[in-house]
Amino acid sequence: MSSSQGHTPAGRPAGTGNSNAGDAGRAGSFRELGLNAELMQAVEDLGFTKPTPVQADAIPPALAGRDVLACAMTGSGKTAAFLLPIMQRLKDRPTGRTRALILSPTRELAAQTHQHFEDLAKHSRIRGAAVFGGVGMKPQEDAFRRGVEIIAATPGRLLDHMQYDYAKLADIEILVLDEADRMLDMGFLPDIKRIMRQLPAKARQTMLFSATIPAPILELSRTLLDNPARIAVERRQAPATGVTQTLYPVPSNLKVELLIELLRRDEIGNAIVFCRTKHRSNRLAEKIERAGFETARIHGNRSQNQRTEALAGFKSGLYRVLVATDIVARGIDVEALEHVVNFDVPNVPEDYIHRVGRTARAEATGDAFTFVSPDEENDMRAIERAVGRRIERRQVEGFDYTAKTTEKLEVPIGDRIAEIRARKKDERSRARANAEKKAARQASGGSMSGSMSGGTSGGSATGGRASSRTSDDAAPRRRRRRGGRSGQGGSGSQSSAA
Ligand code: AMP
Repeated sequence: MSSSQGHTPAGRPAGTGNSNAGDAGRAGSFRELGLNAELMQAVEDLGFTKPTPVQADAIPPALAGRDVLACAMTGSGKTAAFLLPIMQRLKDRPTGRTRALILSPTRELAAQTHQHFEDLAKHSRIRGAAVFGGVGMKPQEDAFRRGVEIIAATPGRLLDHMQYDYAKLADIEILVLDEADRMLDMGFLPDIKRIMRQLPAKARQTMLFSATIPAPILELSRTLLDNPARIAVERRQAPATGVTQTLYPVPSNLKVELLIELLRRDEIGNAIVFCRTKHRSNRLAEKIERAGFETARIHGNRSQNQRTEALAGFKSGLYRVLVATDIVARGIDVEALEHVVNFDVPNVPEDYIHRVGRTARAEATGDAFTFVSPDEENDMRAIERAVGRRIERRQVEGFDYTAKTTEKLEVPIGDRIAEIRARKKDERSRARANAEKKAARQASGGSMSGSMSGGTSGGSATGGRASSRTSDDAAPRRRRRRGGRSGQGGSGSQSSAA
C-alpha cells in the first residue's frame, strides 16, 4: 500500500469543506482533473465546487485506464470518483453496447448509483440502467437489449439475467466492485467469481472500492487488479467532522420511551433509526407510529416496492422517522438528514461509522445519538477506541429512567416459537375436526358441498397459485436447484440479509 493522501471520512465528502494537510499536490478543481465540458456542467449543476480527496486521487489514474484500489466509504464522494472517469472514457467512443458494469451489494446502493449516474449524465448521451432483484426482469432485459452503456447491478439479479443470451456482457471494458467488503460479508464472493468468469477475458479496467481493506479484499484485489493505483488506504476510522455524537445511557426496556420522548421534545427531527433485527424494527416502527409520528420501515423482508416507497416518503418528508436495519441502510443517501439514532449499539465499529455517516453529508451538520443499555457498554467502548475518543454521555432531564414498561419490544425467540407451535397445533386440531365432520357427513350420505371451506390448507387453490409464479421469481429458484450458487447470493436471498 503505497500512496495515502489523507483519509476519506464517512458522511461528508472530505475536501469539500476545510482542506487538510493531505491536500497538498491534489487537484483543487474538477477542471484540473481534465473532465470534459458535459461532465463539468453536470458537476456544476450538482453544486460540487471541488473534488473530494478520493475523487482527486482516483480520477486521474482511472481516466488513464489504470486499475484502482480505493479505500473509501459512502459519504466520501466515491460514486462520482468512479462514475466520472467511466463516463468520460466511454464518451470518447461510439455507444450502443454495455461497456461498464458496477456491482453493488444492495438494491438501494445499485439504485442510488444509477441515480447519481443519471444526474451526471444530464448533458451527455450516455445511457445507464439499474439491475436488481425484487422488481420485474422485463424492463431490465430491455435495457440489456438496448445496450445501455453503464449497468449498476446487484450480483444475484445480474446472474439471473446472464443465463440468457441478451445479457452476455461481451463488451464490458470497465468493471467496478463497489463496497467490496460488504459484498464479501454478504457472501457474494461466489457470485462475483461466477460473473467474472463469464465476462470477456480481454483487457479490462477494474476498480475496487471498499470501506475497509481486510485480508480477503486484499487477496481479491491481487487476483482482479493489475498494478492498481492505491488510494487512501491508510484511512483513519472517524465519522465526519460535522457530526455531533452523543450517547444516551438507558435501560434497554426504556429505549422506545426515550426515543418517543426525544421526538416529542423535538430534540430529534427527521431521523433514521437503526435497529439490530428486522423483527425489532417492525415492532419499534409500530410503537413510534402509535405514538403519533409518521414512520416508515426499511429492511430485507420488505418488498422492493415497500422499500422504495419508504425511502421516497422519508426523503420527501412524508415520514419523520425511517426505521432501518444495517445492510439495506448502507448507501442510503438522504440530503439534509438531521439525526441518526442508533437504537441498538452496532456490533462493529465499522457499522457505527457507516450509520453515523448518514448524517452531516456534503458539508451539512447533523447529530448522531446512540442509545446504550448496560449490556451494550462493552461494544460501545470498542467503538470509542476505534474512533479514537470518548463520546459525550447525556441524561435527559425529566425522563423517568426508573419507569416500568409492560410491553416488551422484542418477543423472545423461545416465546415466538412457542406461539407458532401453539398456532400450528390449533390448526391441526381444527383440520382433524373438519375431516371427521366430513367423514361423518359422507357416511350419512350428506352432500359434499362446502367441503373445501374447512381449515385445511394446501388445497388446489394453493397449488394453482404456486404454479402461476412469475418467471422473475422462478429464475433464481431454478438456478439454486441446479446447485450452482450459494444460498446467500440470490436476488431473493439477498433481500433477507437485513
Ligand atoms: P458517495 O460517497 O458517493 O455516496 O457521495 C456522498 C454524497 O456526497 C452524495 O450526496 C454526493 O452527491 C455528494 N458529493 C459527491 N461528490 C461531491 C463533491 N465533490 N462536492 C460535494 N458533494 C459531493
